[in-house]
Amino acid sequence: MAGREHLAALGVPEPGASAEVLLRHALGWSRTDLYLHWHRPLDPAAWPRYEALLAERARGRPVAYIVGRREFWGLEFLVDERVLIPRPETELLVDVVLAALAGQAAPLVADIGTGSGAIAVSLAVARPDALVFATDISPGALEVARTNAARHGVGGRVRFLCGDLVEPLAASSVRLDALACNPPYVDPATAATLPVEIRNFEPREAVVAPEGVSVHRRLVAQSPRVLRPGGLLAMEVAAGQAAQVVELLERAARYVQIATHRDLAGWERVVSARLRAADDDRCAITS
Ligand code: SAM
Ligand code: GLN
Repeated sequence: MAGREHLAALGVPEPGASAEVLLRHALGWSRTDLYLHWHRPLDPAAWPRYEALLAERARGRPVAYIVGRREFWGLEFLVDERVLIPRPETELLVDVVLAALAGQAAPLVADIGTGSGAIAVSLAVARPDALVFATDISPGALEVARTNAARHGVGGRVRFLCGDLVEPLAASSVRLDALACNPPYVDPATAATLPVEIRNFEPREAVVAPEGVSVHRRLVAQSPRVLRPGGLLAMEVAAGQAAQVVELLERAARYVQIATHRDLAGWERVVSARLRAADDDRCAITS
């Protein structure tokens, strides 16, 4: 495929897969269409469209933004430049929360910094008895997330709230069974070394956080206001960041069962803990 060679020559990552997705987008074809019609002459009108898409990719724009969608947890999410493109490693965060909620009926869950809504919508789809609160500081992100919830038929069970971290929830008396967050976690000092796709196209407030762990630190401090005793706090971390976040949880002295979870690449990618219950306090004092 000429598109693949063109992208490869420019050093674009995954040139073959990208060229295929862009070609299908130019033709308006599904993956099945592409395999079924492989030998059929292509509509000549699609070529200039395809070339324009290749040019966009060549200047660094991620494929997901060009085609406006990305798959996460087996579901298709609409994405644009208002939201971070959901990453496969974040599926681990969904799995950790679902495992913790197994056996509990009608759980109350929050996804803080929901972006495209990937985590919130996946949780709501996986658990039809759950009520999910999805928050973000970005009104634009919440618009995208709301669209995705509606597309997957869970709009009635995902509540969207705009504001800083747990603030919009703390105003209510809700006590959550689980709080999931994939916060921005790239240290500003290293932000300049990020790939052009992230640096020039993804929202900075979705990616960069002072010291890398400043949002984790604030969440560790604030979550006891909205979690029930025994409730789960689960956060994604950057590769190599887990030990720092474990230490934040240990120092806060409000959490038990602090654990790390490895992604498919072997990185400790999710850190989880449960809010200490009153009984745990008594044990801690008498032991
Ligand atoms: N949850 C999505 C995912 O995993 O694909 C998006 C995660 S993205 C890394 C972080 C999100 O947190 C962005 O949508 C950003 O707007 C939001 N955010 C950043 N700072 C925030 C804050 N102080 N309060 C609430 N949301 C915040
Ligand atoms: N996953 C992004 C990266 O690859 C960062 C997303 C985040 O900060 N949570 O750097």
